[in-house]
Amino acid sequence: MELKELKNEWVNEFPKPLIIAGPCSAESESQMLQTAKEIKESNADIPVFRAGIWKPRTKPNGFEGVGVIGLNWLKKVKEEYGFKTATEVANANHVFAALEADVDILWIGARSTVNPFTVQEIAVALRGTKKPVFVKNPVNPDLALWIGAMERLLGQGVENLGAIHRGFSTYQKTKYRNIPNWQIALDFRHQFPNIPMIVDPSHICGNRTGLAAITQEAMNVGYQGAMIESHFSPDDAWSDASQQITPAVLAELISNLKIRNSDI
Ligand code: PEP
Ligand code: MN
Repeated sequence: MELKELKNEWVNEFPKPLIIAGPCSAESESQMLQTAKEIKESNADIPVFRAGIWKPRTKPNGFEGVGVIGLNWLKKVKEEYGFKTATEVANANHVFAALEADVDILWIGARSTVNPFTVQEIAVALRGTKKPVFVKNPVNPDLALWIGAMERLLGQGVENLGAIHRGFSTYQKTKYRNIPNWQIALDFRHQFPNIPMIVDPSHICGNRTGLAAITQEAMNVGYQGAMIESHFSPDDAWSDASQQITPAVLAELISNLKIRNSDI
């Protein structure tokens, strides 16, 4: 089967737009449960809770994630608040642990999408899974790498695919942490209209102020949803503090979105 033949009806089981929200990193059980509680109590339609368990960091000696213990906290979030859960996997061991812990949705991060050996290893570990797997765009603006990563997954029978547009690295000084470079994401959508695409405004912006505009722009061009970082106390976050928002601010952002029903 080829990518173009995928129907990807899995996304129809979720509300439209599909919002995935939660902290950049799992830090502690109480941080996870408090954030989940506040997202739930915000009454926003958010079916999936995200948290990074293993964190790829640019430099060593930073916080590199809590590791497998965080999978227990994701389980608790699911049991206590009814969210589906999502986390990043960056090697085969991550995949085995996440599948064992029954994480519902997995994603491949931007730093992994750039590496064909890494993607192949992840794809083989995921062989035949029915769980949705999102592929973030590679850090560099290379459409072929993004497509190639999905082809590797499909080659292992992973058919419930999605794409995450998280922006592209640049050495220029811009207002974005990662420039959106919409054309690349739109070229992807044009070639594979059946593969659900969501935006990650948090990693595009790197700050709180730009999130609403980027998310709206994605809705305007017919994206199916967004992954947005949210923490009960963003300033205290152990990673990506400057871009995380409280569940209350998140709920307001979502309620202000104008959705193009014809496209989604
Ligand atoms: C993340 O989602 O927290 C993350 C590390 O993202 P990216 O792979 O887009 O940098
Ligand atoms: Mn992050």
